[in-house]
Amino acid sequence: MAHSAFDCVIRGGRVATAVDQFDADIGIAGGAIAAIGRDLAAGASEIDARNRLVLPGGIDTHAHIAQLSGAGIVNADTFESATVSAAFGGTTTVIPFAAQHIGMNLADVVRDYMALASQGSVIDYTFHMIVSDPTEVTLKEHIPALVAQGHSTIKVFMTYDRIRVDDEQLLDILLAARRSQALVCVHAENHGMISWMGKRLIDGGYTSPKFHAVSHPRGSEAEAFNRLVAFAELIDQPVMIFHVSTAEGVAAIRQARGRGVKLFAETCPQYLFLTAKDLDRPGMDGAKWICSPPLRYEADQEAIWQGLELGDLQIVTSDHAPYAFDATGKLLAGPSPIFKQIANGLPGIEARLPLLFDAMVSNGRLGLAKFVEVTATAPAKIYNLHPRKGSIAVGADADLVIWDRERQVTLADGMLHDRAAYTPYAGRTLTGWPETVIRRGEVVISKGKLFAKPGSGAFLPRSGGEAAAPRNRLSADIDPARNFGARIL
Ligand SMILES: [Zn+2]
Repeated sequence: MAHSAFDCVIRGGRVATAVDQFDADIGIAGGAIAAIGRDLAAGASEIDARNRLVLPGGIDTHAHIAQLSGAGIVNADTFESATVSAAFGGTTTVIPFAAQHIGMNLADVVRDYMALASQGSVIDYTFHMIVSDPTEVTLKEHIPALVAQGHSTIKVFMTYDRIRVDDEQLLDILLAARRSQALVCVHAENHGMISWMGKRLIDGGYTSPKFHAVSHPRGSEAEAFNRLVAFAELIDQPVMIFHVSTAEGVAAIRQARGRGVKLFAETCPQYLFLTAKDLDRPGMDGAKWICSPPLRYEADQEAIWQGLELGDLQIVTSDHAPYAFDATGKLLAGPSPIFKQIANGLPGIEARLPLLFDAMVSNGRLGLAKFVEVTATAPAKIYNLHPRKGSIAVGADADLVIWDRERQVTLADGMLHDRAAYTPYAGRTLTGWPETVIRRGEVVISKGKLFAKPGSGAFLPRSGGEAAAPRNRLSADIDPARNFGARIL
């Protein structure tokens, strides 16, 4: 028998990318896409994709896995549990966080986190480095060395007591990132407003979970966005704003982009599909919906959808941050904590793509091409994983998801594969579900069964790429031609 040119052929599917849709077979060899065409020769194995959509594997560029949080507790998932959950939901690449807390050596943090990922992950991964202690050695030695090793994004927090950086530290980090050409991702909320509101609410006896929703005043988001943008313009450093939650936040981003600031932004399913009313439940139940920034209102959802449509927001990530609803997680401080004592975060790494598929493809909001763009192609481009990841093209990694667009699934607590054991979307019926998930040519998930082994995911070293490149448009205060010759950058 003749040797087959392909290890596997996915036959007869409807292929969709962020720009095209067509009927084709996909031939896979050596983990990569080797051919796209009609009537390809037989592969060593074959997958029947008739009446199915074949889409690029999802890329989730914001997920907290086995990470010490801002509140000082480790979230519920290991690399294995989180990435198995991701894979079941159609995600084949993830970017979690190697988190430096105060006093920690960033290089050690990244090395230890790499060890966890390489043992546990079933999907491919690369990291964001959280910097909360920008010492001289962190800024001048560790960041340049780590960026050179392929860790090319830095995340900073403008709020949370234990890990936030102040304005001067943020400027230092932006400059260090510019020198190494790393993208800076920011959790941007005004710390003082949140802290002040929390104290007023608690003093007034407003302590139940629902008051978390109003304890991060909506103006704290746009204020921090505008402050961050001013810093980014001063340093001429591109930034990514994480988890946009308010209409005012979207407007601030649109205005900054409109005047040419190199600014990217993401939102998350929780800001598209949930509202503050989800926290208003009897007893402690609302704790399951506590995340930061908090859930907002319907008008915010509309503004965020419009931001995605117009391209002011480019990607939708999960911000997966799972805590079980028990004494290991949400109720760590006891059976009836005040809202300030409840871990912030929602599980969502598995539900992200089905929720968005249901809304965007099955119900037609912005459509299939935009679904692929915001969940795979744009994340790959912004984080410099493209063209290896994020689309369906000859030579790219064979990261493919075969979707059954008819299948209806009603989400329920305990049915997903992360270790939070609940889903904030319980009771929702979604149309469309990932049936087969392929990572670098290997079947990871097929019809509800897992086939990948822990540690089979690969590290993806990457440089900052186009998104992290400064504009080289210096402001008057920084430009030596206009600032009397001072060299600041
Ligand atoms: Zn997050």
